[in-house]
Amino acid sequence: MENVLIYDDQLASAEYTPSHPFKPVRAKLFMELLHRYCEISDEHFTMKRPEPLDEELLYLFHERAYINLLKMAERGEFSPDMVQAGLGTDENPIFRGMFQLALTIAGGTHGGAMLLAEGTARAVFDPISGLHHAGRRRAAGFCYVNDINIAIAELVRMGRRIAYVDIDVHHGDGVQEAFYATDRVLTISLHESGETLFPGTGFETEIGIDKGRGYNVNIPLRAGTDDEVYVEAFEAVVPPLVERFRPDIVFAQIGADTHRDDQLAHLNLTSNAYKQVVSRINELSPRIMAMGGGGYNVYKTAALWTLAWSVLIGTEPADKFTGLVGGMMYGPEAEAGSLEDLPFSLTGREKELCQAQVQRVVEYIKKTVFPIHGL
Ligand SMILES: [Zn+2]
Repeated sequence: MENVLIYDDQLASAEYTPSHPFKPVRAKLFMELLHRYCEISDEHFTMKRPEPLDEELLYLFHERAYINLLKMAERGEFSPDMVQAGLGTDENPIFRGMFQLALTIAGGTHGGAMLLAEGTARAVFDPISGLHHAGRRRAAGFCYVNDINIAIAELVRMGRRIAYVDIDVHHGDGVQEAFYATDRVLTISLHESGETLFPGTGFETEIGIDKGRGYNVNIPLRAGTDDEVYVEAFEAVVPPLVERFRPDIVFAQIGADTHRDDQLAHLNLTSNAYKQVVSRINELSPRIMAMGGGGYNVYKTAALWTLAWSVLIGTEPADKFTGLVGGMMYGPEAEAGSLEDLPFSLTGREKELCQAQVQRVVEYIKKTVFPIHGL
């Protein structure tokens, strides 16, 4: 079985508006780092271009009225309903090509999911995907079309069991919305608490309803949380639940905005925890669809994705250009030549507060969710 990287240079050149923080160009930098640090040969993975999604598949999740608004916006027409649908804000601006871009992003994830379902691929990574905030009838948090929900819904329709693990710093609220009442998809999101970060949801008490009760899991973390506390929370909850659920395919939204240098959030992770957690998710996954998600420090995001992809394809990155003078610069001087960060650890009162939050949340999940799974 192959490893497949979904990438298109033209898509990576797209942008919402010049000042918008969601930058597909991160994927371009990721490709450069991949060339610099990893062997790229047919042996390790193949590359595929994302194809635009068949429009009918949008309705596996989205409402027609909302999709019509997206198409109108793309044509430059205005409807007062757009305000309600979150369109035309700083966060989700209206711009030329927006519907086509959303269709292509969703097509990338869907195409990857089909390769996994057929058994052609073992691991797929699509850096420009994982738009977990898009709702049934609204755009939110830079997301217009929820590529994740569409691909998962299609696989569920085909009878597959799917686990969704979201390590982006923001709560995966759009995915929670889609599968809140079903036991066919296990949804787990680790994120900075909604008390201090968008979208303000994802508390541990949101565990699903009806048949879905116990199949939606949230681990809200205190602002400031470091590697050690993060890994402790992950290990206590994710492996036991995913192992017990026995998914056919794992969807992993591996947003890089948990990094301590990210401008939009307040966690303190380094590449060390990120790599460790991606590696653990990979071990838990018979097959894996990895999606790039968020990450607003362009260099750090590209570096973390490079580490993630090398974990998924089983290579160890090494700088092929070490010692060469006059090479390209990939970021601040101190970082050129290394993808990985020095360790960082909180101390004192702040550390205790972060630990106390994790203990409280893990205890709650063990008491309310674990018994539903016979754990
Ligand atoms: Zn995010």
